[in-house]
Amino acid sequence: GEALAVSARVAPLGSRLVLLLVEDLTEARRIEAVRRDFVANVSHELKTPVGALSLLSEAVMDASDDPEAVERFAGRMQIEATRLTSLVQELIDLSRVQNDDPLEDAEPVRVDELVAEAIDRCRHAAGTKQITMAAGGTADLHVWGHRGQLAAALGNLVENAVNYSPARTRVGIAARRVVALGGDMIEVAVTDQGIGISEKDKERIFERFYRVDPARSRATGGTGLGLAIVKHVAASHGGEVTVWSSEGQGSTFTLRLPEAGVARDRAQQHPAHE
Ligand code: ADP
Repeated sequence: GEALAVSARVAPLGSRLVLLLVEDLTEARRIEAVRRDFVANVSHELKTPVGALSLLSEAVMDASDDPEAVERFAGRMQIEATRLTSLVQELIDLSRVQNDDPLEDAEPVRVDELVAEAIDRCRHAAGTKQITMAAGGTADLHVWGHRGQLAAALGNLVENAVNYSPARTRVGIAARRVVALGGDMIEVAVTDQGIGISEKDKERIFERFYRVDPARSRATGGTGLGLAIVKHVAASHGGEVTVWSSEGQGSTFTLRLPEAGVARDRAQQHPAHE
């Protein structure tokens, strides 16, 4: 009788353990699959421009008695080389944000400086499309984090806003203090009047290499890694990035990051090494 009672008590525990184990295995398998997909994606993305370069260099050699053709092929080689460079740079950036703990080098970072830097980075692309960029509310705000990573994150959002908008539209950047995620945060919202993103794609755009329209993304020098970098930077700083969008109307990407003073005080009250 007692044995039965004990096994009745143990059995549910046992099945829970088995369930946990199965869940663990499934998670491990999922991580492994994501890693394999990533390697496959990187190989594919690298092979495309390298293959094009190799074909184009052959074409240049064959066309050596036609200077106009040589110039045309050389121009295309330059585009492919630029694409390759930006892909490698983004891969390095992604691996940096995934491997370095940003809070080891954290400092108060002025929001107006981050915004000015992001706008500067896109000035040329915006200029050729006559896109107006305007920023507001950034004065006297400071976020707590890794300057380089924060600049990369905001830069990617502003770059996307410009890339996925038609000519003669407006990109707005607005910052303010909010209470979110249980603390004092700084919110930076980047709003465009661009092509927008469908409900279905909204869930996936933060994945590495996911693009709604790969041809369009490549044409503007996109790698499909930008938003994955933004999401990682936001999370590792204790913040978040969210998106609101209406197809054909535009999008707003909102980056929330801990405010400088607050995060520092908290860290002093609860030092990590205790
Ligand atoms: P990419 O290098 O292709 O821009 P991202 O990771 O930055 O890669 O973005 C992933 C995809 O999300 C883009 O290819 C594009 O389809 C979509 N996207 C990102 N930002 C915007 C935006 N502001 N408006 C419309 N679509 C966007």
